[in-house]
Amino acid sequence: MRVLEADLTYSNGAFQSGIGVEIDDASGTIKRVGPVSELGGERFRLRGRALLPGFVNAHSHSFQRIIRGRTQWRPLRSAPSDFWSWRDEMYAAALTLTADDIYDVARLCFLEMLLAGTTTVGEFHYLQRDESGTTYVDPLELHKCVLQAATDVGIRMVLLNCAYVTGGVGAQLRWTQRRFNTPELDVYLRNCEELKAVVTRYAHATMGVAPHSVRAVPREWLKPVAEWARSAGVPVHMHIAEQLAEVESCAAAYGMRPIELLAAEGVLDSRVTAIHATHTSAHEVALLARARAFVCACPTTERDLGDGFLPASSLHAANVRVTIGSDSQAVIDPLEDMRLIEYHERLRRMERVVLGSATNEKVTIAPTLLKMGSAHGAASLQINGGAIEAGREADLITMDLDDITLSGATRDTLDAFITLSAPATCIKDVWVAGRQVVADRQHKNAADITMRYRKVGERVW
Ligand SMILES: [Zn+2]
Repeated sequence: MRVLEADLTYSNGAFQSGIGVEIDDASGTIKRVGPVSELGGERFRLRGRALLPGFVNAHSHSFQRIIRGRTQWRPLRSAPSDFWSWRDEMYAAALTLTADDIYDVARLCFLEMLLAGTTTVGEFHYLQRDESGTTYVDPLELHKCVLQAATDVGIRMVLLNCAYVTGGVGAQLRWTQRRFNTPELDVYLRNCEELKAVVTRYAHATMGVAPHSVRAVPREWLKPVAEWARSAGVPVHMHIAEQLAEVESCAAAYGMRPIELLAAEGVLDSRVTAIHATHTSAHEVALLARARAFVCACPTTERDLGDGFLPASSLHAANVRVTIGSDSQAVIDPLEDMRLIEYHERLRRMERVVLGSATNEKVTIAPTLLKMGSAHGAASLQINGGAIEAGREADLITMDLDDITLSGATRDTLDAFITLSAPATCIKDVWVAGRQVVADRQHKNAADITMRYRKVGERVW
């Protein structure tokens, strides 16, 4: 047993002083939270630091970290750059990476996440085949690369196994999409079954399913994939309505919008997380709310790609739980993703304090944003984390109260300082399942991870 005692600890929706967190080392979970005098075990005093639940990144494609900074231009005489032209560049990168490269890029990506306070990543994994489009001898070869990367870096992972069948609604897969190809439903479900057993061999890994989108998965796949997830007790994540063209092609083919299609197929329930949900109608927001489904916003990616704004006010009013994701890895900073959800609404509506919750005659933002950053992501990925409570996973981070950006913060204002102003460089320590993986901003394998990542970057570009 160990007891972590910080100056301030975020528990039950507020920062509190004088309390400790007792960790059960055998299970990696929080045993008790309360006054230090009532807790047992070796005591670790975290002076000048605040303790919070680690952040949950519910939507990541780790290999896309390799294109950061390389797509921020366009040919002088081309049509305007957008999601679709970015996607062509992303495909080009995806086609160059070997299995070893995918491991090295994932390690760097997960290291950056840990340093930014992310303790769980939902990895939406759609690289299935080799560079030529041929199935590996082991169909889970690349899944194992990212699982090993997560294990070696020390981050918790929910590996979301992607189904990718078509190149658009009713369209053939394009040659540039050959690495993603999962053409047969029974083979895909068999791989899911095998993956469910495989993840148990990795520390802190579980799995889920990810029918890529209505663009990439035929309607008739939705029900059997969701039914498999229900029987296996795992989450279902799906890109939904990131682009207007997707909504339009869905409506043209099926006579309904993407979330309406999920509802019509009987697959929209509390296991489902709609990634992006940028272009959703009021009717679709109501469907999400009724199903207790989640939305994963990825605002640092959505602003990079010019996708549009999340209908955050409507989702908030309907009590739809929103989570965050780093998606394309244009930026890896959960604090930035959280705050953009609020700040984008302020810019759109020309008002302040939009997504708040009421306590003691005040409407405040920070508790809502912290739930998006931790508790909602954990629930979406079906892990028992996201809060400092007895019985939860001991996935924890500290913030440096001596950092200049937090100067002037009090117990009552620290949550607002963190969620709406502070940079991720304030994060000092990280524990996953009770094991410290970042201490004073240092990770023991950082030099090797960055050196190998640089070599991949030099070779593929
Ligand atoms: Zn995505």
